Amino acid sequence: MNIVMFGPPGSGKGTQAKILEVKRGLPQLSTGDMLRAAIAAGTELGKKCREIMDAGELVPDDVVIGIIAERYDLPDCDKGAVFDGFPRTIPQARALDSMLKMRSRKIDLVIELKVNDAVLIDRVKQRIKESGGVGRADDTPETLQNRLTVYYQNTAPLLEYYKRQGKLVTVDGMAPIEAVTTAIAAIIDQAERKG
Ligand code: AMP
Repeated sequence: MNIVMFGPPGSGKGTQAKILEVKRGLPQLSTGDMLRAAIAAGTELGKKCREIMDAGELVPDDVVIGIIAERYDLPDCDKGAVFDGFPRTIPQARALDSMLKMRSRKIDLVIELKVNDAVLIDRVKQRIKESGGVGRADDTPETLQNRLTVYYQNTAPLLEYYKRQGKLVTVDGMAPIEAVTTAIAAIIDQAERKG
């Protein structure tokens, strides 16, 4: 099964994707994590993306499409994967659809975590506090504002794209983590029963 975890920054996509990886054996494919790893390793890709990410802007579509395709072809994705932070634009969603089609696969479910902006801002402030100043370079109040703007401009239109495909399911992302996990499990179980 191939699942897209969808939502704004701080909505809990990563947390829930990690839980799915452990419980269902579906690898979490986080483009944000892959790009941060490239920065940490000092690769050319990392150098190219660092400033863009620090500003809370999107790295070019071809860059993330390339790294996702390469990662998806590793054997641990044989049974599918959970996409976390990808796709973020319509061209990325189209590229993902055609990449999967070429492999006789498809996106089965898109799970949207719905969270109000005020709650997102509070969560990221909390994450900054907990990291003691050595957390993510893009976790600053100013950059978060830009990441939210970018989300509503470029990424939110994907909701309509997936709704039209009949794949979108929305979950209350403001509920406690365990309640969100339970809601997601029920959605996946139901989709599996339908085949
Ligand atoms: P994330 O960890 O998903 O919040 O991503 C952190 C940053 O990495 C984003 O603010 C973007 O700069 C970049 N990034 C991650 N995924 C994508 C993507 N699918 N498209 C473009 N940029 C991305």
